[in-house]
Amino acid sequence: MIDIVDYLKHSEKDMLQFLEEIVRMESPSQEPQLTAQLADYLTICFEKMTNGKTSRIHSEEYTDHIRAEWGEGENQLLILTHLDTVWPQGTLETMPFEVKDGKAYGPGSFDMKAGIVQAIYAIQALETNGVELDCKIVLLITSDEELGSPTSKDFIIEEAKKSEAVFVLEPSQGENGALKTARKGVGTYDISIKGISSHAGIEPEKGASAIEELAEKITYLSNLTDLDKGTSVNVGIIDGGSSKNVIAEEAHAVVDVRVQTQEEMDRIAPLIEELKPVDEEVEIQVEGEIYRPPLERTDEIEVLFEKARDLAKTYLDLDLEEESTGGGSDANFTASIAATLDGLGAVGDGAHANHEHVIISQMPRRSALLAMLLCEYGKVRS
Ligand SMILES: [Zn+2]
Repeated sequence: MIDIVDYLKHSEKDMLQFLEEIVRMESPSQEPQLTAQLADYLTICFEKMTNGKTSRIHSEEYTDHIRAEWGEGENQLLILTHLDTVWPQGTLETMPFEVKDGKAYGPGSFDMKAGIVQAIYAIQALETNGVELDCKIVLLITSDEELGSPTSKDFIIEEAKKSEAVFVLEPSQGENGALKTARKGVGTYDISIKGISSHAGIEPEKGASAIEELAEKITYLSNLTDLDKGTSVNVGIIDGGSSKNVIAEEAHAVVDVRVQTQEEMDRIAPLIEELKPVDEEVEIQVEGEIYRPPLERTDEIEVLFEKARDLAKTYLDLDLEEESTGGGSDANFTASIAATLDGLGAVGDGAHANHEHVIISQMPRRSALLAMLLCEYGKVRS
């Protein structure tokens, strides 16, 4: 283990350079020509740096996802990363890659390009130090995570089913880089209301207002929030109507839902999906779902976290903590299938924000933590 920690400590400069290269390659999820360039580059880097092999998983709408594999064996350990970011093309002009006070700034640096660097270096550290595991390591680098993983979800679940454990390189939480052992489930609903338009002054009795119906639904939906149970329902966007003197024919709302437990998910989802109008002349159409189930802290997750904490204490002199978060990730898909540990990525701050950055000196340490976990699980389980 010491060799791996040392090796990575000496790789800090190279890791930073790798991070700079890939932050300078902008990769918004919805720009496949850009994400494809980054995918090609990462494929070359992975194969060169680890002697591993890669294949592509086809994505109809976005760039093909990368499945990278290292080592051999019947058992499998899975690492999840994503190469897409929330930042549109051209962001680098106002938010360039920059190193200041031991921090590396830039779009996607924290979420999660540094995580990709750390994952590839962790595998490289195993390869270079001659570590042989009794299992294969599969690294997925997907291209649509920031959109809720519409085209990668099934592949992630498929790979998780074949895996002993899943390590997710999403950013850690807080200054001390806490891991994430619980995440809320996340849903989005689009609610379209169709009423009957009429002149509001001349014949209001002939109309049926979509806006009035929506107003009633906003109150109903907001009241589904139950913070004690970790459930929140937020009507975040509304629009409707065409003119002040027309009874509104259409109204529309977009709703964000977060749930902490499967039980709450099962309770809340039908209440939204089966919304009924108060006014019988009005029609309501609901589209959407809770697309990421909650990641609940299972006993298996606890065991995995304890292992990570022991390794961090022994070899990195780090008191690793755990936290829960309201944000979802691909870990939400895998936690009920295989022991999953999330937040193993970069230490820093500002995911999806202008001050997004990573703490450079933590990159080799986090990479070492992942490499050690792979060693432990690659051998113990075989
Ligand atoms: Zn992310």
